[in-house]
Amino acid sequence: MTKVFYDKDINKAALEGMKITIVGYGSQGHAHAQNLRDSGYEVTIGLRPGKSEDKAMEDSFAVKSVAEAVSEADVTMVLLPDENQPKVYEESIKEYMKPGSALAFAHGFNIHFNQVVPREDVDVFLVAPKGPGHLVRRTYEESAGVPALYGVFQNVSGEAGDLAMAYAAGIGAARAGVLETSFQEETETDLFGEQAVLCGGLTSLVKAGFETLTDAGYQPEVAYFECLHEMKLIVDLMYEGGMENMRHSISDTAQWGDFVSGPRVINDETKSRMKDILEEIQNGKFAQGWILENQAGRPRYNAINNNEYNHPITKVGQDLRDLMPFVKQPAADGKKGGKV
Ligand code: NDP
Ligand code: MG
Ligand code: MG
Repeated sequence: MTKVFYDKDINKAALEGMKITIVGYGSQGHAHAQNLRDSGYEVTIGLRPGKSEDKAMEDSFAVKSVAEAVSEADVTMVLLPDENQPKVYEESIKEYMKPGSALAFAHGFNIHFNQVVPREDVDVFLVAPKGPGHLVRRTYEESAGVPALYGVFQNVSGEAGDLAMAYAAGIGAARAGVLETSFQEETETDLFGEQAVLCGGLTSLVKAGFETLTDAGYQPEVAYFECLHEMKLIVDLMYEGGMENMRHSISDTAQWGDFVSGPRVINDETKSRMKDILEEIQNGKFAQGWILENQAGRPRYNAINNNEYNHPITKVGQDLRDLMPFVKQPAADGKKGGKV
């Protein structure tokens, strides 16, 4: 089995006394910054003026321009949206990093697809939490953590691996488990997971189920509970104890239906399309499309986002959740809450 590192396995001295700059204060940024500070590190935030800046100052961080914060850092963690990283890197990071310092990422996309070509005199590593930023913070406060992958792209100091692991421990990930990866593996598996299973696969599955029931004349409210709301209850059981735990909890009728009908929905044909998706991730076609979409001002992204928001499941969900105050209300404007 792959080695999983926990707090006791990690050389924390690698990061001791180092100045850490977090560039960006969004989903991941606020979590890394607050967790590292609570773990005893000196943290500065690099930002442009705006909402995030106000938030970081409210949270009592020293906030500087990206260039200034980077110029003082021993470790610069880039937690900007992936699409903005190449430009900010060229303009405000590249020339400002101290020789021998470390440049870090939480996702390998830009390094792996050559959108950021790092200077040769710095360490380059990644620490990628396998969960949304808000959980990275919440679990840390609960003395737990979100597992993370770490990987090294450039090892000038000879210590980049230890540094990455110590950083992962600093954000609480070593309480849950830290695994070694490469930028390539992290990037390709992350993109595949979110496209085929976690986000794309899941939303398409939920919508297809909801539409099948409502097209057949069943009430949308019932279809919503059945295909979306209950999803969390089932997933929680899998999260806690795997599929066997979930199957142990459901009725035998449900389990029999799982066995005979599940493979009719997700079958070899689906799997062969998953392989196509993986291939397009591996050969760079997906990345190229997404980079071009951003350069064009996101016409398709915005159009699809709008259509999706207008799906009947949105309205029925909003009405039902209004009546369930115990269900936390995220931003209901089609914008992301937590991200993966
Ligand atoms: P967010 O969109 O939540 O936050 C981005 C931050 O960057 C905001 O504070 C934003 O500030 C700031 N920012 C954007 N553009 C600039 C700019 N030009 N100059 C200075 N600051 C800027 O990003 P995420 O936290 O989601 O993603 C960060 C990284 O973490 C990405 O590489 C992502 O792939 C990775 N990741 C994300 C996960 C997640 O759960 N979200 C999970 C694992 C990895 P402003 O308010 O000014 O716009
Ligand atoms: Mg992910
Ligand atoms: Mg991702």
